[in-house]
Amino acid sequence: MHSSDDSRIETLAVHAGEHRPGPEGSVVFPIYQGTVFATQPGEGYHDIRYIRLNSTPSQQYLHGKLAALEGAEAALATSSGMAAVTTILHTLLRAGDHLLVGDTLYGGTHNFLTDHAEDLGWTYTFVDPHEPSTWAAARRPNTKAFLVETITNPLMRVGRLREVVAFAKAEGLVTVVDNTFASPVNFRPLAAGFDLVFHSATKYLNGHSDLVAGCVAGSTELVDRVRHKLNIYGGTLDPHAGFLLARGLKTLALRIGAQNANASVLASFLAGHEKVAAVNYAGLADHPDHAHASELLSGFGGMLSFRLAGGLPAAEAFLDALRLPTVAPSLGGIESLVTRPAITSHAGMSPADRERVGVTDDLIRFSCGIEHSDDLIADLTRALDKV
Ligand code: PLP
Repeated sequence: MHSSDDSRIETLAVHAGEHRPGPEGSVVFPIYQGTVFATQPGEGYHDIRYIRLNSTPSQQYLHGKLAALEGAEAALATSSGMAAVTTILHTLLRAGDHLLVGDTLYGGTHNFLTDHAEDLGWTYTFVDPHEPSTWAAARRPNTKAFLVETITNPLMRVGRLREVVAFAKAEGLVTVVDNTFASPVNFRPLAAGFDLVFHSATKYLNGHSDLVAGCVAGSTELVDRVRHKLNIYGGTLDPHAGFLLARGLKTLALRIGAQNANASVLASFLAGHEKVAAVNYAGLADHPDHAHASELLSGFGGMLSFRLAGGLPAAEAFLDALRLPTVAPSLGGIESLVTRPAITSHAGMSPADRERVGVTDDLIRFSCGIEHSDDLIADLTRALDKV
């Protein structure tokens, strides 16, 4: 580790967790693909280096880098973002426990709770993360944790995160935040007082749309508890994917800087276009969360969503006409991606529920890549001309 705790995130991304000199003098930490490593004299069960136990050299290297980026005592890589959130919840909740949860969640997390919590003996209450005055009534004697997301999909809402931390501390609840959409470049949840942060590392942390991974970061005590569950449930990240993830992490700050800038330029462009009816981006002054998001975040992220004045037919024609972004339902990569959440991420919700939370059929979600913003705007202009 050749960076100090007060290094900036650009420096941490490159140097944190690196071994100098690396094995055989290697500048890049290699992939240790081995299943198991030799036991040294005097070592016991807790020293075992076995791949599912997340204790092999490649895994530990990645954990060090992830922890530094989140400013955490400890971090853990998982086989997916879903493995991260489900393992965290299995760690914090036992049968009979209750969870407070923000009411705008990634579809997979939402479905996990609605389809599986009852079988596990857990109860939960959805709360509006913008309405702190409503949380006390939802808290029960058996409530153990409060789960929210930093920037929500697909309306890019930013909840009252400071108030979530203050409420949970006063009530003795563990706070958990999905920081996937923000990345640690735009928001450092642990510094803001959250207990655990997790990511779908499939998105911004890796940034190249070529692997599936997740991560968890927090205090050594909490991360050890999550690791214990993960070791049993088996949602371990393979070292090959871990190598790609560590490589992606080195350019995290550069990529996020470019994606923040592109999203901001695109949001302003779209907001001023006559064929655009609404734009959702917390960096815009008229976004409902702009004021408190400006205090919480150091950047508003690379994701935005919008509606066209012509409704669904216009949205479909627009997507057909785009040339640069690929129409695909993921995010966070260096290439721009675009999708209609009503038929992808939110397809599992009933049409009435979608309408209620503002995920209209014509809503378009845009994940900005690192292309030049002039080229993206030229492509958007051309596509808008066709609708
Ligand atoms: N959290 C958010 C905000 C996501 O967008 C996703 C995936 O899209 C996940 C969690 C789940 O991550 P994964 O697909 O890596 O399991």
